[in-house]
Amino acid sequence: MADSTPSIPSRGIPSRQWRGVLHEYADRLDITEATPIVTLGEGGTPLVPAPALSARTGANVYIKFEGMNPTGSFKDRGMTMAISKAVEHGAKAVICASTGNTSASAAAYATHAGITAAVLVPEGKIAMGKLSQAIAHNAELIQVQGNFDDCLDLARDLSANYPVHLVNSVNPDRINGQKTAAYEVVEVLQDAPDFHLLPVGNAGNYTAYSRGYTEELERGVTTKLPRMFGFQAAGSAPIVLGHPVKNPDTIASAIRIGNPASWELALAAREATDGYFGAITDEHILAAHRLLSAEVGIFVEPASAIGVAGLLERSEAGVIPAGATVVITVTGHGLKDPQWALRTADGDDVKPTVVSVDAAEIAGVLGLQKAAS
Ligand SMILES: *Cc1c(COP(=O)(O)O)cnc(C)c1O
Repeated sequence: MADSTPSIPSRGIPSRQWRGVLHEYADRLDITEATPIVTLGEGGTPLVPAPALSARTGANVYIKFEGMNPTGSFKDRGMTMAISKAVEHGAKAVICASTGNTSASAAAYATHAGITAAVLVPEGKIAMGKLSQAIAHNAELIQVQGNFDDCLDLARDLSANYPVHLVNSVNPDRINGQKTAAYEVVEVLQDAPDFHLLPVGNAGNYTAYSRGYTEELERGVTTKLPRMFGFQAAGSAPIVLGHPVKNPDTIASAIRIGNPASWELALAAREATDGYFGAITDEHILAAHRLLSAEVGIFVEPASAIGVAGLLERSEAGVIPAGATVVITVTGHGLKDPQWALRTADGDDVKPTVVSVDAAEIAGVLGLQKAAS
């Protein structure tokens, strides 16, 4: 393996650092001796049991916490692969359309590889954290006066006619990198779960997990395919509606997509896994966002909470049997778009309490009684 990564001294303590998905799964991905591995150590994310959600539903619920990737979203799994292959093929520049996280990831991996990333984002529609990342990592950031779907059309057009390599999830390397998340789930659970729930925007990740689980079944490592349940925001639900949505509208900016690039692949995956696509209102997305933060201890951006809202909805509908194993992918970190945590369920601003420098006053606010001495 061509590898210029310096090793980290162990000081005699047996230790092993996770090496990123291309090294960890080299034998199962399309890479060779000639592939320069561009990695920031992505993947190896925690699968966290969620007792608060298990208690609510009677299922055994786990959260695959993809906010723990280097740039804070699952996009890094696909980007390590896409940028490595682009560099292998001699690319000096890559381009992508993005609702934010793809641009943050492309910018970080491209700059690590010493090449240029051009990113097209819808003007004024990108969460501040993601915009900051793309700028910090030196991307050529271009705000387009249009929506995500316009940006993707432009990125495809430019990559077809100019020397820039497309790294959106229509690039098969992206999906192949992303399928490693399913491998990791299987490694921990020692089988596939009964259900896997996740957000759907372009449906690349839905497709990637389905592929990963299918490979695991074919290898004989698992006994079943999970039923793949994907969720779109109600104002941006083309797959659920069965037609493109011209002006998709939701607070969940990462899935504000009206014409998903992997639509056909996702329909095939639903068919193969006895899956489901559902729509969730913004109100229920935000309720699930609060539940994840306040009861599970996991902070996500709004789009990432939709799988939890979907679990509650499907559980209520009687579709999730007691004792079923359920994995929910939460796709991006809460620090990317933190403003939603500062609103109450009624939409009011949360106002933290202010006190003087006085322990007794604080004890009063906290309702603490002085301990008897
Ligand atoms: C990209 C993204 C999605 C949607 O993933 P697709 O593969 O486009 O369906 C969901 N959540 C977050 C946080 C994302 O960045």
